[in-house]
Amino acid sequence: MPRHRALGTEGPQLLRGKLFVLRRRCGKPTCHCASGEAHETPALAYPVAGRTNTVTLAHANLAEVRASLARYEAARAELDAAADAGIAALRRSMAASRDRRQV
Ligand SMILES: [Zn+2]
Repeated sequence: MPRHRALGTEGPQLLRGKLFVLRRRCGKPTCHCASGEAHETPALAYPVAGRTNTVTLAHANLAEVRASLARYEAARAELDAAADAGIAALRRSMAASRDRRQV
């Protein structure tokens, strides 16, 4: 497992959620969005206590956010693999003790 820095000025180390593009019209009648393309803002949807919150992002932060999401997914995959191995070991151990009782 990689060591995780504390959160700080260097930016988030781990992030959970999904990136999406928020499209909205600002309401100004003279803005290009009134008749054409809506404004597009990158955003992160993330789960909090069973609900989904969103935070809008600056394009400059996207690379770091993507990297933090990838680190989270990698760490979670590692944990899942370790837990799967634990389940397999538990099942082997239970099967072995059943076999001993039957002898
Ligand atoms: Zn606009």
